[in-house]
Amino acid sequence: MFLGGVGEVGRNMTCVELEDRVLIVDAGLSFPTHDQPGVDLVLPDFEYVRGRRDDVEAVVLTHGHEDHIGALPYLLREFGGRALPVYGTAFTLALLEGKLEEHGVRDRADLRTIRPGEGVRVGPFSMRFMRVTHSIPDGVAVAIDTPFGSILHTGDFKIDQTPLDGRPTDLHALAEEAGRGVHLLLSDSTNAEEAGYTASERSVGPVLTDIVARAPQLVVVACFSSHIHRIQQVVNAARANERVVTFLGRSMHQSVAAARRLGLLSVPDEDILPVEELGSFDPSRVVVICTGSQGEPLSALSLMAAREHKWVRLREGDVVVLSSSLIPGNEPAIHRVIDGLYRTGADVFHVPAAPVHASGHAAAEELRLMLSLVRPRWFVPIHGERRHLAHHAKLATEIGIPPERVLICEDGDVLEVGEKVEIAGRVPAGMTFVDGLGIGDVGEVVLRDRRKLAGEGVVVVVVAIDADHGQLVSGPDLVRRGFVFEETGANILDAARERVMLVLRESAEAEVTDPGVLEQNIRRALGRFFYDATQRKPVILPVILEV
Ligand SMILES: [Zn+2]
Ligand SMILES: [Zn+2]
Repeated sequence: MFLGGVGEVGRNMTCVELEDRVLIVDAGLSFPTHDQPGVDLVLPDFEYVRGRRDDVEAVVLTHGHEDHIGALPYLLREFGGRALPVYGTAFTLALLEGKLEEHGVRDRADLRTIRPGEGVRVGPFSMRFMRVTHSIPDGVAVAIDTPFGSILHTGDFKIDQTPLDGRPTDLHALAEEAGRGVHLLLSDSTNAEEAGYTASERSVGPVLTDIVARAPQLVVVACFSSHIHRIQQVVNAARANERVVTFLGRSMHQSVAAARRLGLLSVPDEDILPVEELGSFDPSRVVVICTGSQGEPLSALSLMAAREHKWVRLREGDVVVLSSSLIPGNEPAIHRVIDGLYRTGADVFHVPAAPVHASGHAAAEELRLMLSLVRPRWFVPIHGERRHLAHHAKLATEIGIPPERVLICEDGDVLEVGEKVEIAGRVPAGMTFVDGLGIGDVGEVVLRDRRKLAGEGVVVVVVAIDADHGQLVSGPDLVRRGFVFEETGANILDAARERVMLVLRESAEAEVTDPGVLEQNIRRALGRFFYDATQRKPVILPVILEV
């Protein structure tokens, strides 16, 4: 069952059912798009899982990115009294643990650390984990046994032959898995449109070192807090130029602390400058490492761009590096931040203008390599929008997988895995919106209202009528917000008020006293009136008081 991440980027969640037991692979979230105003986060629809609550055996996490673990704190709330087994590698669970504590659901999860190369048995599920390289340490692919051969889920991966930690994607283990027989491959499609090979993470190091070496003053580098190997390379670049580093941002501190504890990041204590001492330190001897590379409002980088950061004031000659990709949808926010940074006088390095980032996802040739190494009998591309899936499917048929054995799925599709693999049904897989403390109470109707309010404004009409006869007692009073028009001669609001009175008079004559009908009549008449007068369609909100 694909509950998310198939036909979209983010919100990855897949369920596997065997002998009436359910295994969940990843439980991620995504972030709202501009047409989802007021929404904080987007979760997968848990309805299927809710219905199978007692049958869920465990959750397996492929790596610690938000789009793979971010929905888990919400998912765990569905499992009242019982602590659900959650399998993940050490760094994945370290990131998860902080999140669970923040949500107050730490006791709902039974965290079980796995090591790449290991096998685990839970209920009817026999699994093997294989190391993959990605833009976060400690990622794994997982193979799950079925009577027909295994289902191999790659998680997010690239095939980096020279990863920073010297632990490449375990091609040997993947080949062994192929030897056992992979019945169905589910593989990451994020970069399927990119030709060739993704650059090694190591290629970014010399670029960063060179930028730091040439910088006359302060250097600020923004990247994802979980991208430990990137952070390591920034630290290395600083040290090579006899600079200390300052970490900024809560998630950056948490992630760096976890990575240092697990031996994944090496920074000597004496090379870390507390942010409070930044002001009294020679800026040409510091590299600030912070979050905000996606233009997130209130992040360290956004505040610097707005000249509102408490500790960092950028000046002419400072250098800022955005060491990350521009995630689709975030471009306007990122460009706004970059513009702001330039306005401070700083010099800014970012992709594609400067090679200060290497992707964490496999490009076409690596995807082909995965396919020909694993030789699956059936293939379903996952993790990507429809066009990514389509490109990935094409890559598969090009290397000789018969087209009838390549299935393009969408969120909500149920695959039946037998000798044959086929799409056999649907489960609910819509979006669940998180808005403040509300989970799932904001739906499409609310969003449509919000979009309309944002685009057109609102006019509230308050009238008091006699409950028995429908006669006007007081009002109408019109209040508008976000709805403007040029005041020309005749006052439009006065004319609108006249129009409401006419509607009420006509309704009273027709002996209409039902407030619902009156509201509808007012809404219709005023809607037409405002459109004729202004060519705009504000939201009209009649409030009828019966006295
Ligand atoms: Zn990822
Ligand atoms: Zn992902």
